[in-house]
Amino acid sequence: MTSKTDVVVIGAGSIGVNSAYFLAEQGYHVTLLDKDDVCAGSSWGNAGLIVPSHSLPLASPGVISQGIRWMFNPQSPFYIKPRPSLALWKWLWQFRSACTEEHQREGAMVLREISDKSMELYSLFDDMGDFGFCFERKGIICLYATKNGYEHGVKEADLLRKIGVQSEDLDKAAVIEKLNGMETPAIAGTYFAGDGHLDPADFVTGLARKIRDKGVEIKTQTEVKGFKRIGRKVVGVETDRGVVSADEVVLAAGSWSPGIAHSLGLDLPIQAAKGYSVSYKKPVHSLNIPVMLAEAKAAVTPMGTMLRVGGTLELAGLDLSINKKRVHALLQAAKYLLPAINFDALPVIKTWAGLRPTTPDGLPLLGRSKVFDNLIIAAGHAMMGISMGPGTGLLVAQEISGERKYMDTTMFDPNRFN
Ligand SMILES: Cc1cc2nc3c(=O)[nH]c(=O)nc-3n(C[C@H](O)[C@H](O)[C@H](O)COP(=O)(O)OP(=O)(O)OC[C@H]3O[C@@H](n4cnc5c(N)ncnc54)[C@H](O)[C@@H]3O)c2cc1C
Repeated sequence: MTSKTDVVVIGAGSIGVNSAYFLAEQGYHVTLLDKDDVCAGSSWGNAGLIVPSHSLPLASPGVISQGIRWMFNPQSPFYIKPRPSLALWKWLWQFRSACTEEHQREGAMVLREISDKSMELYSLFDDMGDFGFCFERKGIICLYATKNGYEHGVKEADLLRKIGVQSEDLDKAAVIEKLNGMETPAIAGTYFAGDGHLDPADFVTGLARKIRDKGVEIKTQTEVKGFKRIGRKVVGVETDRGVVSADEVVLAAGSWSPGIAHSLGLDLPIQAAKGYSVSYKKPVHSLNIPVMLAEAKAAVTPMGTMLRVGGTLELAGLDLSINKKRVHALLQAAKYLLPAINFDALPVIKTWAGLRPTTPDGLPLLGRSKVFDNLIIAAGHAMMGISMGPGTGLLVAQEISGERKYMDTTMFDPNRFN
């Protein structure tokens, strides 16, 4: 069976649902496909932070030597599963090339711009009041357990200040004050007032309900298997439930995007970077604001009635198994820096693994393919797919409508690695 639509969007995570929303706003008839349910991928159990303060790309000077040290520690927040994958080794080589000061500075500016726009759009969604997603703009605090961690944090805050991200250096007493009197062994902290947080699953599923009401056709349990093409055009998206033909196709399938693009002969440099989260029922006396545990690269986010601890980064392919040692290490870091919260006594709602779609240079692939005229790639948002979600959706809609984009997207060109 073949159906026809203006735009087909593949993947109903943060990026796909936001893209479908802004396209529908422009009057397009949109069909959104997902092999699973809405928000079944990485967009479900992440830490829910909207963080212009995390605009420094993962590929930065010094990160390789730190990564090599972490590789040999089974409890560290970073791991690469050694495997004979040409795509992985090519990715690592490209990552190495991107670890320059110039790329860090220029990449940070565009990541900040798209995150700032997303923050503005989240505020508008919140003001609409159609659905709740526990949105708060209270900022976040980075907590440092060690002098080294603090010095590194100060350097990063200086770099961020240069691109317009403001922060406040906190001594121990100021940290405790910001935490509403909650005790912590942290030696210092940095407060980023411009950050915010939300419940990502409430946001993505709430927005999906809203776009369904606007006429977007959402087809879940519908897996994209391949494409029909004629010359430079994708003329049909083949699924296990028939073919959908469309004028424009948006590929927003997160970590699964390279596999799907492969059937078009395209090589997308995205590696799945697995992370974990544990969601607890929030205790009565809990955190009032999200915190980052700087050395452990973990976050603890109060999210409505939940408290979520999330972190770690493992390059292990499309593998969603849970490594208990690393989850344990993640929780140990939270317990150490937040001893006033008795995590062991809290009911666990879910222990979860998700795959961040990660590019070698830490920037998303966002724009039109140069091989197929009607294919738009919107994937590779790594640890920032919530922070950049609405801003990305708007850019996708502006690309398709030909309207002037709100920012220069040259650095996101999806063809830049070819
Ligand atoms: C532990 C952890 C913490 C994080 N914390 C944050 C945070 O605090 N802030 C932040 O900004 N980001 C965070 N992230 C990153 C964020 O979760 C991702 O960047 C974001 O979810 C990516 O969204 P996406 O829509 O690209 O991918 P996904 O949400 O993974 O969606 C891709 C969708 O494509 C579908 N799909 C795949 N293959 C097919 C197919 N063949 N046919 C049809 N559909 C298909 C999948 O089912 C899935 O629903 C975190 C990630 C992790 C793992």
